[in-house]
Formats: sequence, C-alpha cells, structure tokens
Amino acid sequence: MDLKQQSQTLAPFPNKVAKITIAIDGYSSCGKSTLAKTLAHSLGYQYIDTGAMYRCVTLYVIDNKMIYHGELDVKALVNHLDDIDISFRKPEGAIDADAFLNGVNVEEKIRGMNISNHVSLVSAVKEVRLRMVALQQKMGHACGVIMEGRDIGTVVLPNAELKIFMTASLEVRVRRRFNEIKSKGQEVSLEEVKENVLSRDYKDTHREESPLLQANDAVVLDNSNLSHQEQLDFALKLVEEHS
Ligand code: C5P
Repeated sequence: MDLKQQSQTLAPFPNKVAKITIAIDGYSSCGKSTLAKTLAHSLGYQYIDTGAMYRCVTLYVIDNKMIYHGELDVKALVNHLDDIDISFRKPEGAIDADAFLNGVNVEEKIRGMNISNHVSLVSAVKEVRLRMVALQQKMGHACGVIMEGRDIGTVVLPNAELKIFMTASLEVRVRRRFNEIKSKGQEVSLEEVKENVLSRDYKDTHREESPLLQANDAVVLDNSNLSHQEQLDFALKLVEEHS
C-alpha cells in the first residue's frame, strides 16, 4: 500500500479539533511534499506547494528565453511579472491539485531537471518573492492549510500554529530524488542529482531575500531513518498537540 492509500485508510482525525495552519519548511528533496500531502489527506486540509510556484515562474523565464548562458535577465522578468498567472486546480478525478501557468497544466514540466537547475536563480529575485509571498499569504488565509516551502514559517505564515522544519542526510535526499526522477522515465545520474541538491541548498540558504531558515519555534523532523508512516504519525501527534 503506498502512502496515499495509507493516509486514505486512516481513521479520520477527530473533527471536533479546530483546524490550524501548518508550515513545513526544509532542504531540497527531504520529503516535504510527500509528508505535506499525506497529512493534508489525513486531516482534510488544503495543501499548497509553494516550490511549484517558483518552478512555474522558472518555466516562464525559460520559455521566454530570459536566461542566457546561465545569466537571468532580471529586468525582463520583473517587467513581465504581470503576465505570469499561477494557480492550482484539481484535474477531474485527481486527488491532488496540479500547477497551472497561464491556464496550462504544467505539473509534469516543472518537475524536470532543467527547471530544478534554474529555479534558485529565479527564486532569489526580490520582486518575484514579493509577488509569490503575497499570493501565498492570500491562499494561506483560510484555516486548515498546510503550506510547504523554504520561508513559510519565517516569512509567509509566521503565525502558523504548527511549524515543522524537515531535514534528512544528503545521501538519503539524493537517492530519493534520483528514484523519483527515474520513476518518471527521465534520464539522470546520481552525480547530477547530488550537484543540483547541493547547489540549490547553498543558494536557498545564502540568498539575501528570505533565505531558507529554521523558524525559532519550528519542530525539527529528521526523517533520514523514518518510514512514511512514522513521519505521518509524528506529524499527526504534533497537530493534536498544537490544535
Ligand atoms: O520545493 P521545491 O524543491 O519544489 O522548490 C523549488 C525551489 O523553489 C527551491 O529550490 C527554492 O529555490 C524555491 N523556493 C523558495 N521558497 C519557497 C519554496 C521554494 O525559494 N517557499
């Protein structure tokens, strides 16, 4: 039984418990999305993947040839920010929402290595961050939201009732990401994945604008040696304590 199925067979979370806002942050490929999605299914919460939003902007930038020889044309990007519309919608019969860029489902496209290799360049741009954070804060306004990213507990939703900061060993993260890419039939080497994970972590933690940081009040979850079920149980317990 996969994690999605497991979460659907779990006893429903007691509905007398008030819905809270949950922020999940952490390094690249440490299983944030998997946990956030499963937790959202178990609790009947809305899941928001903020990384997908930066990936959508990156796809727009690449499609519109705003990166030359590895250099981003920041001015061109800022001038076109109003032309970038990002939304999340559930295709008919799907369990999870897909990312849409200007009305087109780009869920598959934004997960490729080309996007991963350029996204940290785009996400470091102040104007991009301001735009994304404003959108995310609007989406996070409702109760019963699980938002996942890099700056959710520190910048986007600093008042979230529960903040989880996820981490895992580099080896585990690289292996997970490698398997994920391979399972989609894409060609990649372990070395390429390792380089990408290390480079994104470095850029995401060293950028000037809202770098990846552990919020002071976040609970750390190192999942290097934890099964999906163990992570879910850990998170559900935290939700109960913070509700
Ligand atoms: O979570 P994911 O790996 O899809 O995120 C892709 C990239 O988007 C990150 O490497 C980071 O540069 C950027 N990001 C960010 N702030 C967020 C979420 C993602 O800067 N809240």
